[in-house]
Amino acid sequence: MEALKRILITETAKHIGETVMLCGWVSVRRDHGKLIFFELRDRSGTVQLVVLPDKPNVIEGAKEVRSEYALTVIGLVKARPSKSGDAEAGPMSVEIEVESIEIVARPGEELPIDVSNPEFNLQLETLLNNRTLALRNEKVHSIFSLYAILLDAYAVACRTRGFMEIKTPKIVPAATEGGANFFKIQYFDREAFLAQSPQFYKQAAMSAFERVFEIGTVFRAEPHFTTRHVNEYTGLDAEMGFIASFEDIMTELEGVMMDVVAAIGERGRKDLERYGATIPPSVTIPRIRLSEAVKILKKEYSKETDGEDIDSEGERMIGEYVAKTYGSDFVFLTHYPRAIRPFYSMPSAGDPNYTDTFDLLFRGIEIASGGQRIHDYQMLVESIKKRGMDPEAFKDYLDIFKYGTPPHGGWGLGSERIIQKLLGLGSIKEAVLFPRDVKRLTP
Ligand code: ATP
Ligand code: MG
Repeated sequence: MEALKRILITETAKHIGETVMLCGWVSVRRDHGKLIFFELRDRSGTVQLVVLPDKPNVIEGAKEVRSEYALTVIGLVKARPSKSGDAEAGPMSVEIEVESIEIVARPGEELPIDVSNPEFNLQLETLLNNRTLALRNEKVHSIFSLYAILLDAYAVACRTRGFMEIKTPKIVPAATEGGANFFKIQYFDREAFLAQSPQFYKQAAMSAFERVFEIGTVFRAEPHFTTRHVNEYTGLDAEMGFIASFEDIMTELEGVMMDVVAAIGERGRKDLERYGATIPPSVTIPRIRLSEAVKILKKEYSKETDGEDIDSEGERMIGEYVAKTYGSDFVFLTHYPRAIRPFYSMPSAGDPNYTDTFDLLFRGIEIASGGQRIHDYQMLVESIKKRGMDPEAFKDYLDIFKYGTPPHGGWGLGSERIIQKLLGLGSIKEAVLFPRDVKRLTP
């Protein structure tokens, strides 16, 4: 007889009446009189195993098995009378009558948390301290299944629009853009920094390839204690050349977001359901000037703003406002004042106190910043000087603009915040596999 090949749990329903081999972890064991039941979990799903009393050899092994033991099981696939005929039930419509059990690995100690609990409402600290084990919980698993769809869909959406994927260095020579939020590292006999944005490199790549995107790590040294910041996150960046105006950038980002959301809705239905999460409606994303948003806040929410920026509470209110007014979960806020945007931001034509830049908000929090960049060498030098900085320090960056750089711009989009808001997670840290914050460097 041919040796059995392992199949996935989701495939069991197609093998009723056959003997199959499964591998996975035990979620729970239940003893009912002489019967022993297990729930076995693999990367595809969960199925019930039953050990019958007429198999003394198997029972011997089964009695040792506890939660999170890793097993290889051979058994007969049977339809479960109560669930059969229910195609939606998938592996839950079958049960495996165990013929042999091999214990592949045993937990070395008592489990600190119960990962089989479908609710899994642990304190954030407990969840993160026991991260490796917590990742086995199906609700936590869902976060990262959706995250993987997001990364894939973002890349596909960018490629479809003619963007080429790049990777830029994360060890950088100078803390150019300000400096306060860079991590300093020892680089042989010099100091170097961890990149807090791929900005300069993606612009350089754009000046050769026209349209580029990157999925890359971003390091931020700010000592945040919020629910939406971590010190290491994954940025979804893009940069595009030959734009007619910065509206073009928002149009592309809007298309990318809509594609990503649609992909998550199609491929992540089961995972979304675990959170009672709904996909944002597919409507045109409103574009509102920041100065207009400030007026809306005052009129609708009696909220005073500090000059012309809006804080996180203001973002939340604007999110609520566009949801009820336009039925949109997203909004672009445009034309930020020059003083609060980076030196390379393109001043608005005829209104140089403002810039052709935007933020994209999703359900009331910023998920992206972007805009048109200055592409004229001299204008860029002036902008650097105007901020009291030394153009000499930007020599490598300025070189990009010496050889014919077209009008261009792009965005920096935070991946984890999208998942956080999509699922309504209390903290962004739940959407990071092994988050780094001011206090946390382990596990
Ligand atoms: P915020 O004002 O919310 O701190 P920012 O304006 O400093 O964000 P940008 O430099 O515009 O952030 O970065 C682009 C995007 O990257 C943000 O819109 C956000 O989605 C994400 N992002 C920025 N900083 C963090 C962080 N510390 N942790 C997680 N995501 C971040
Ligand atoms: Mg920003």
